[in-house]
Amino acid sequence: MAKPPIICVSGGKGGTGKTLIAVNLATMFKNEGKKVLLIDGDVENPNTNLLLGLELENKTPVMFFKPVILKEKCSKCGLCAQNCATNALLWVKDSYPIPFLNLCSGCKLCYKICPEDAIEEDTKVLGWIYESQKDNIDLLVGELKPSEARSASVVEALLDKLNTTLENEPEKYDIVILDTAPGAHCDVELLIDQADKIIPVTEPTKFGKLDLERIIELIKLLKKDYKTIVNRSSLLGFKDEFLQELAEQKIEVLGDIPLDDEIVQSYCQGIPLMDNSGKFDINGAGYQAFLKIFDALKIWLKNSHMQGVKE
Ligand code: SF4
Ligand code: SF4
Repeated sequence: MAKPPIICVSGGKGGTGKTLIAVNLATMFKNEGKKVLLIDGDVENPNTNLLLGLELENKTPVMFFKPVILKEKCSKCGLCAQNCATNALLWVKDSYPIPFLNLCSGCKLCYKICPEDAIEEDTKVLGWIYESQKDNIDLLVGELKPSEARSASVVEALLDKLNTTLENEPEKYDIVILDTAPGAHCDVELLIDQADKIIPVTEPTKFGKLDLERIIELIKLLKKDYKTIVNRSSLLGFKDEFLQELAEQKIEVLGDIPLDDEIVQSYCQGIPLMDNSGKFDINGAGYQAFLKIFDALKIWLKNSHMQGVKE
């Protein structure tokens, strides 16, 4: 059975409008009667629900394995520490190992190989997953607990949920859209690796270009197909020069979105610009730019024989 196309909206730089674009793409597919799954993988700063005007609901914790050394059983052999890949167990001869939980990956190897059963399994809450729904859009949001560092584990929990759904109900969704954190770190890599098409979002500045090149490097390493969106393209009048530079570097552009007050208003009101709310001008520059991008995206999917988006 055909699984839906997975589109990942990403970008090397924070604040370029990734979430705005992910939410409006999801909304445009929804407008066409498609069943959409939108996943917010920016787990340190999730705000997709705000742009959709949705409450976060159905909170479930993401648990993480935590080793506890039972001194009454431990023979101080050091086997656990010697095999811990992340050096999360400090051991010196004739003493009990000391866990450094910030370094622990939760792999459970120490627990499995201890010859004395002297490591007890404990868990801690790393973050949460929320599931909300609006019209034909299902929203899955990951949130890392403040002061925790293992954001990739929350992203992995989101992807586990996605893969379980795709295995059990491959036709439940027509399209899946992933929204990543900024940057090119492991959370972003996990999400890009899961997707069929990548849309790195940038803006026409030197910083935007540098960060775009960084994320494209990662996308190429993962051998993924991509086209970029230039957001705030009318900023400071650099659009033509910027698009020319991208063309010279053979970076394909899916479209560009100019500065537009209505985009800002939709952002502030928590109503997607492309929703049929009647609040925004359908002839406005932002609205028309999104429509053009959506058409280009559908052609891109069609030319790639991605039949998951049912006609
Ligand atoms: S492997 Fe088990 S017995 Fe050996 S040091 Fe670690 S906890 Fe103690
Ligand atoms: S769970 Fe894995 S990473 Fe953590 S202490 Fe045990 S062996 Fe090391």
